[in-house]
Parts: sequence; structure tokens; C-alpha cells
Amino acid sequence: MTNNLVTVAYIAASALFILSLGGLSNQESARRGNLYGIAGMAIAFVATALSPQVTAYGTLIAVIVPGAIIGSIVAARVAMTSMPELVAILHSFVGLAAVLVGVASYLKPESSLVGAEATIHQLEIYLGVFIGAVTFTGSIIAFGKLRGSISSKPLLLPARHLLNIAMLVACIGLGVQFMGTADGLQPLLMMTAIACVLGVHLVMAIGGADMPVVISMLNSYSGWAAAAAGFMLSNDLLIITGALVGSSGAILSYIMCKAMNRSFISVILGGFGEGTNASAAKGEQQPSGKATATNVEETAELLSNASSVIIVPGYGMAVAQAQHAVSDITKILRDRGIQVRFGIHPVAGRMPGHMNVLLAEAKVPYDIVLEMDEINEDFSETDVVLVIGANDTVNPSALEDPDSPIAGMPVMEVWKANTVVVMKRSLASGYAGVDNPLFYKDNTLMLFGDAKQNVSSILSKLSELMSAGSSVTKEKELAKV
Ligand code: NDP
Repeated sequence: MTNNLVTVAYIAASALFILSLGGLSNQESARRGNLYGIAGMAIAFVATALSPQVTAYGTLIAVIVPGAIIGSIVAARVAMTSMPELVAILHSFVGLAAVLVGVASYLKPESSLVGAEATIHQLEIYLGVFIGAVTFTGSIIAFGKLRGSISSKPLLLPARHLLNIAMLVACIGLGVQFMGTADGLQPLLMMTAIACVLGVHLVMAIGGADMPVVISMLNSYSGWAAAAAGFMLSNDLLIITGALVGSSGAILSYIMCKAMNRSFISVILGGFGEGTNASAAKGEQQPSGKATATNVEETAELLSNASSVIIVPGYGMAVAQAQHAVSDITKILRDRGIQVRFGIHPVAGRMPGHMNVLLAEAKVPYDIVLEMDEINEDFSETDVVLVIGANDTVNPSALEDPDSPIAGMPVMEVWKANTVVVMKRSLASGYAGVDNPLFYKDNTLMLFGDAKQNVSSILSKLSELMSAGSSVTKEKELAKV
């Protein structure tokens, strides 16, 4: 393939990536967005493999074939609940790739570069390796935290901010040394080691509740690392793609920070979501009162007698895989003329859009799935709210207790409804480790147990109630005749 043809292919791939991002911005067009992305990546891959610069086909095949097989198996097997872990570990690969590309291009510099161009190239290498190393180790820690192999509580070392600043200053100092010498391998490798420690320390300091922002932030870093690798390799497509990923990740981080009412800087500096013990130690209000338990029969009765119902799903619905039974309940209630809508918190579940994906998979109509801002004012006029495996996202202490670790985070104001039924297995706290006063409110009923079992039992009970209801109606109609 000639260089001109490669350029044309790269332009087409870039356009497809932009169309893909546009498509992914809403549920109806998301499938099409994915197809654009796949087509763009296929074009980019074939064009790069056939470009004149690539000659070592043996090596290329030796790495691509096993990589493609492992990638396909992992992606096919991953459960929806483990998707954020997969994303985190994939970010670490991008980071590692940027480090390796940087070191390799330093060891085998392009001989054509002289003067200012050579200096800029050196700077690209240094920055690329730095971002790559932070992304690499930070993503591994994020992976461990999401998987539960590393505690989700923030690690707060004494003088941690000073430690971060010291590491940053050391990297800058080594950078000056790197730029000023012909043999800069040693400062480059020393900086890589420090940046790896910085990545670990930055993400270790971030608590569970901020993990969604960290994931999208690392997504952004991995994009900038890829863009830096693009500069090092003089590959325009890598620069464009990296910039798209970097900026969309940054925008997503910003949107998520807004949804959690947190400043981006405070998230990066960490320390949020220290857990219940930490909250108790700080003298925060502990929920008081008695939780009222209910059962499947009472919940089914409540639902069938309601005229408006809002379902608020959370991580528990995803773990229990209850979405299909939830979809069936929705259909039965809607067929009976009951208004049913879903309220989705921006960080419900374990990744952005987690609930929307599950509900779409279960064929819940898009138009009844509403974002928090669209539905939060309607709870006060709602008969029954069904909270299915959600906890932090429906915690009133975020609004009512200024000392709560999640104070200020916008939440679904479910307690304003006539009756709230909370479905979970216990009174345990959620991901952020914060107690939830919702469970003890007068209008809250707790339906304990696995969400899938309970939702399926409610479904059978509702079907019974509905068929009993329809035979009574038929009898009444016959009696009239
Ligand atoms: P939470 O983690 O706050 O609560 C989920 C609840 O589900 C738990 O309290 C648990 O209670 C219950 N549960 C678990 N398994 C089951 C089951 N099988 N059946 C019934 N209930 C079950 O979830 P939310 O969705 O409300 O909030 C999301 C949290 O996750 C936020 O803190 C957010 O910051 C964080 N997060 C979000 C990410 C994102 O991008 N969306 C990424 C990473 C973290 P019990 O044990 O009593 O059953």
C-alpha cells in the first residue's frame, strides 16, 4: 500500500471514529456507533499492517494472532458487572504500550531529526513515557480495587500531597537532565520508575465512591498516552484517536464529577469514601430508628394498586441479573394502565451507563428510562418507588447530613414518594461504605433477599393477581348481561 493510500485510509478511519462517538451519545444510535467504531478500527488496522513501514510480518502475526484470540475470549466471557475491571486493565495496556514505544524510540532515534525537531521529539518521548507509566500502574490499582483484590478504602499516607509534589518535582528535574544530555536513558528510566510509583499512590488514595471518575480519568490519560505515542511514531491516526479518547474521557470525568457534586481536583487528590468507621469517628449522624420489613405479597399488592411507579435500579440488580424479570413486571403493570418509569442515577452500578445497558438488553422501552435530573422532581407525586439493589445513589444523608462523606452528591430523592420498597439482602452499606437512613424512614419497607428471586416472585404474584382481577371483571361483565 502506498503512503498516499494509507493517508486516505487514516482519514476515513478518523471520520468513522468521530461518527462512532456521535452514535454512542444516545441509546437508539449506540449500536450504529459501535459499528462505525469497528469499521474504523478494521480500516486502521489493515492500512497500518499494509503500510510501507511495516516489513516484519512474521513478528506482527506472532503477536497479533494470540492477542486477538485472548482478547476475543476475554471479551466474550466478561460479565456486565466486571466490565469496568476489563476497561481498567485495558487502559493499563495502553499505558504500558506508550512506555515501551517511548523507550524504543529513544533507543532507536529517527536520524532525520535535527535541531528544534529533535528537541521536540525528545520532549514527546519524555511526556509520553511519563503519562504512560502513570496510566499503567494507576490502571492496575484501579483494576484491583474494582475486582475487590485491593481494598476500596483510600490509602491516606501522612503528607501524601507533599509526596506527590516531591515525585512530580523529581520527574521535572530528571526531565531537565534528560533533555540536556546525549545519553538520557538513565534519567528516562528513573523517571519511569517514579511515575509508576506516582500512578500507584494517586489511585490508592482514591476511595470507592470516586472510582467511576478515576476510570474515566484513566481512560483520558490512556488517550493522551496514545496521542503521545502517535507523535513519537509520526502516526497521524494514533494522534487523532488518542486525542479523541483523551478529550472524551476528560469530558466524561467532568460530567461525572458534576453528577457527584465533586471538584475534579478533589477527586484526583483522593481521600473520599473512607467508609462507615471513618464517618463514625468524625462524629457524623448515624441512622436511627427501626427498619420495617415487608414481603413479596405485600409488595405485589402495593404495585398492583398503584397508579404510578418508579423503579430505581442499582448495582444489586446487575449482580443479581434481575433485569429481565424487572422488564416483565414493567410490562404487566403497563398493560394494566399503571404508569411505570425508571430513574437512573449517573453513577448507579459500577460504570457509566451500566443500568441503561442492562435495561436495554432486557428490552425495557427507552422512553420510560429517565435520567436523575428528568425524574427527581416527580417522586413526590409517585405512589410506589421500587429500589432494586441501589444504595449510595438513594442515600438521603447526601442532602441531609453535611458531615456525611457523600454530602452534596446529588441523589435520587426516592423517600419523597408515598411508599418506598427497598430490595436488598441486608441493611449493609453500599460501595461508598456509608450508612443509609432511607432504610429507617416511616414510608420505607425493606424487602430482604436476592433481587432476582424477589423480583421473580413478585412477577408470579402479580400475574396471579392480574388473572384473578381479570376473571373477577369478566364475572362482573357476565353478571351485568
Ligand atoms: P451500591 O454499591 O451503593 O449498592 C448496591 C447494593 O446492592 C448493596 O448495598 C447490596 O446490599 C445490594 N446487593 C448486592 N447484591 C445484591 C443481590 N444479589 N440482590 C439484592 N441486592 C444486592 O450501588 P449503587 O448503584 O446505588 O451506587 C453505585 C456506587 O458504586 C456508588 O457509590 C458509585 O460511586 C460506585 N461506583 C460507580 C461506578 C460507575 O461508574 N457507575 C464505578 C465504580 C463505583 P446488600 O449487600 O444488603 O444486598
